[in-house]
Amino acid sequence: MTKRKLVAGNWKMHGTGADLGQVTAISIAAETAGCDVALCVPATLIERAVCASPGFAIGAQDMHSADQGAHTGDISAAMLKDAGARLTIVGHSERREAHGESDTDIRAKAEAALAAGLVVILCVGESLGAREGGQAVATVAAQLDASLPRAGGTELLAVAYEPIWAIGTGKVPTTDEIADMHAALRARLIAAYGEAGKLVRILYGGSVKGSNAAQIFAVPDVDGALVGGASLKAADFVPIIAAAG
Ligand code: PEP
Repeated sequence: MTKRKLVAGNWKMHGTGADLGQVTAISIAAETAGCDVALCVPATLIERAVCASPGFAIGAQDMHSADQGAHTGDISAAMLKDAGARLTIVGHSERREAHGESDTDIRAKAEAALAAGLVVILCVGESLGAREGGQAVATVAAQLDASLPRAGGTELLAVAYEPIWAIGTGKVPTTDEIADMHAALRARLIAAYGEAGKLVRILYGGSVKGSNAAQIFAVPDVDGALVGGASLKAADFVPIIAAAG
């Protein structure tokens, strides 16, 4: 089933007010794109990015699952909405690894984000060890099963398959490996949500560039991309957006 693709940038811990011109340039390209485009910027930039580019989908990279409370340094879904965010990433491998986030934590975050009306990009992906040990599909399918939201519906949900060994390394799985993984994730989504599972967008993430985007977007069940390094500059990101359209 062909869906309108979603190309989302993840700026990670990059970007200050000096980079708002890049947000504006990307938002201008998004206006005429044949795909949905979003940019997940550092929390400190969300409100300014929204003001700089009204109408463009600005998002966060993480959030806390609680509405409010004694959680020093954390930000809730309601706060992200208040700042103008329309979406959030949850479960990025850098959060899972560096902050010890479990599938249970990520499921709670996804459910809280959906309840607040945020689009959710839920990330899953295997380590190099799992890939080399022939356990990639089993590992990622188990991650997905355990972290998928059970409440909040599927209209605002997207899943991003991001092999950890492909993030920021320039290494990319073969198109057959991507196809096999996306087919397995689609089957898990249908098992969890029935017919609605067919409509959940599955993004690929990991070293997507202008030079490889078209090939990746042509893989069955690749409904877009989550892009790190190549989303920081409009000159690098716009060709990826164009390849999706
Ligand atoms: C990411 O971290 O989500 C990512 C896909 O990074 P990169 O595109 O730089 O590999």
